[in-house]
Amino acid sequence: MITINSKTELASLINSIKLSNKTIGFIPTMGALHQGHLSLVSESKKQCNISIVSIFVNPTQFNDLSDLEKYPRTLESDLKFLDEIDCDIVFTPENEEMYPKKDNRIFDFGNIDKVMEGAFRPGHFNGVAQIVSKLFDIVKPNCAFFGKKDFQQVAIINNMVKQLNYNIQIISCQIIREKSGLAMSSRNERLSPENRKKASFIYETILEAKKLAKLKTVNDVKTFVENKFTENTDLKLEYFEIVDDFSLQSVKNWTDSQNITACIVAHIEGVRLIDNIKIDLK
Ligand code: AMP
Repeated sequence: MITINSKTELASLINSIKLSNKTIGFIPTMGALHQGHLSLVSESKKQCNISIVSIFVNPTQFNDLSDLEKYPRTLESDLKFLDEIDCDIVFTPENEEMYPKKDNRIFDFGNIDKVMEGAFRPGHFNGVAQIVSKLFDIVKPNCAFFGKKDFQQVAIINNMVKQLNYNIQIISCQIIREKSGLAMSSRNERLSPENRKKASFIYETILEAKKLAKLKTVNDVKTFVENKFTENTDLKLEYFEIVDDFSLQSVKNWTDSQNITACIVAHIEGVRLIDNIKIDLK
């Protein structure tokens, strides 16, 4: 495995890979790697000749400075994990390397970044688009792999790829969960063992919501989830939305869309956890 922190060095390595006609799979991450990240690397290894992971905690996508400061950084064990699964290249740039000067680009994502994460974390997706486009420009991948855990992010990336005319296939991969059902997340590391167990309530509740969707109205399901969280004093619900997969706008009736996902964010012990579940009415 090759570890590189200079974008010029990476760019010249990419050139030689391209000359040998090998395909490149790219997995952008912020590190503190877990099986969720590693599943993206496995998928890339299945589909592409060379797999490249970036590890960079991107400051422009954090709207909360303390969240950025508290973000776990575990580079040594990340590199060990990646080496063990035979990742080919890891890019670990410093801030200066990615932002030698301020990135003033403002992206227009229409309505898809006005809701959910976009509404609760102003500027978040603009920061995501800034860093992912910079990384795409350096890595020039054939395919890029993203987790469905960040459901809205996948829509944003697809939109950005269209806007900027990238010839990159975006592949969204299933959510990897802990045994308890809790979606794996770097942020889970900040939870006490007790609260980590309690956080499985998020998945349990959206799983119940999915079942209930076959019997109840959209509003009933929303009320059900909201009430469950009101009764649970350990977790605080930030939002629960039932949306169309493409427009990301809330649906009022199950017949409004053929592709519906329920998205949730809840807090426990000051940690913000995100999850979602596909609603299948059949
Ligand atoms: P992050 O390091 O949190 O920016 O995540 C890097 C990539 O890993 C993103 O595409 C995430 O959606 C994906 N990812 C994070 N957690 C999971 C998970 N539990 N299952 C699948 N993909 C994940």
